[in-house]
Amino acid sequence: MNSPHQHDIVIAGGGMAGASLAVGLAGAGFDVAIIEAVDRSADRQPSYDDRTLVVNRASLNILAHLGILDDALPRRPIRHIDVTRAHGFGHVRLDAAEHGLDHFGAVVVARELGNRLLTCLEKDEGITEYCPERLETFQVDEDPEADRVYIRLASGTQIETRLLVAADGTGSAVRQAAGIASTLHDYHQSAMIFNVMAEPASSDTAHERFTPEGPLAFLPQPEGRFGVVWIDSTDRIEEAMAFGDGELLARLTQRAGSGFRNFSQPGKRARYPLRLLRTPVPIGKRVVCIGNAANTVHPVSAQGFNLGLRDVAGLIEVLGEAHDPGAPVWMARYVQARKADQADTVRYTDTLARAFTNPSLPFRIGTGLGLAAHALLPGLKRRLVTSAMGFREPVSKLAREV
Ligand SMILES: Cc1cc2nc3c(=O)[nH]c(=O)nc-3n(C[C@H](O)[C@H](O)[C@H](O)COP(=O)(O)OP(=O)(O)OC[C@H]3O[C@@H](n4cnc5c(N)ncnc54)[C@H](O)[C@@H]3O)c2cc1C
Repeated sequence: MNSPHQHDIVIAGGGMAGASLAVGLAGAGFDVAIIEAVDRSADRQPSYDDRTLVVNRASLNILAHLGILDDALPRRPIRHIDVTRAHGFGHVRLDAAEHGLDHFGAVVVARELGNRLLTCLEKDEGITEYCPERLETFQVDEDPEADRVYIRLASGTQIETRLLVAADGTGSAVRQAAGIASTLHDYHQSAMIFNVMAEPASSDTAHERFTPEGPLAFLPQPEGRFGVVWIDSTDRIEEAMAFGDGELLARLTQRAGSGFRNFSQPGKRARYPLRLLRTPVPIGKRVVCIGNAANTVHPVSAQGFNLGLRDVAGLIEVLGEAHDPGAPVWMARYVQARKADQADTVRYTDTLARAFTNPSLPFRIGTGLGLAAHALLPGLKRRLVTSAMGFREPVSKLAREV
């Protein structure tokens, strides 16, 4: 039998969170392995698809500190955020310049960020990739003095490590096998994404419109295109996926209100079921969950990957001083460092998701008043700006301005 491969840290899942973490931990001097189930060359990588992501300012700082954000990564700065509500009052417009900023964040296509991450993984000698490969089982040595996790891959390859990171998404097999408690809520909603041409072709405004059926976002892309995120009940999204292009554009015009006109050339559609996963204490013995494997949130207000990146930054910071990265002391410090941000972000997105899709009149009035209050009260507006930029306390060093 071949002797097991040895790595300081093994990451299960090479999606956006897992790959970013691998780059950061290798930069901090660890010998890192990453196990990814889907062949990257096959253009099927589920984390690196056509999603248009709003990457907030704190996340841009993290990516820059990790050396992932380079000039070649296409992105469009967001200088204005426009939030409106269909059939109701309330309109908030946030301008970066009013807050002394050049931009709140940027729009990045997940596939393009994924390509950049793959280049970083390939170039870094401190990272070993097992791909395509699946983590099949693992066992943590029960001896309190021992510091090993024994991993077996689907190919039969065996690995030993001191810390196993679960970055394997919402259904994380690692989280479940480690017995880490979590709760799952189905919103019975789905998101449909596609690109479209529209007028006016603003290049630096992100639009979010709350309609009675669900939120609708328009995110600027090059050459007058917008990335659309259209959220509705799962049944209605199923119907919309089957619309001809003409029908799709007519419905989009209706739903978008008066802000846009002349929609044309819709691109390929994809859909995602929407669930809320919450893992209050995302650690087990020598196991830690990050990104969607720890907390999966509703895409309203674009928080998911941004939250996952703050997990990445938090873990890199905590492990920076660690000789044995899986030791209980570091796991406990990670939980302590991340718990307030994780709980607040989950609460914030869940409240928005429920409030703006509740059909009852008191709720509609309440949310309309909420938006109006945000527009009028400087304190509330500032809170919205801080949250839009991702600077949630405690702000990790990697998230601070470069
Ligand atoms: C419509 C939509 C729009 C969104 N927009 C935004 C936005 O604007 N801004 C934002 O911040 N977030 C946004 N998000 C959220 C964001 O997409 C997610 O937070 C992010 O993709 C999570 O990345 P992850 O790496 O944690 O998990 P995933 O993307 O789920 O990656 C998990 C990886 O693990 C691999 N894997 C699974 N099991 C195994 C195994 N046993 N062995 C090996 N590998 C395994 C999978 O192949 C996959 O590559 C959006 C989400 C949706 C649905």
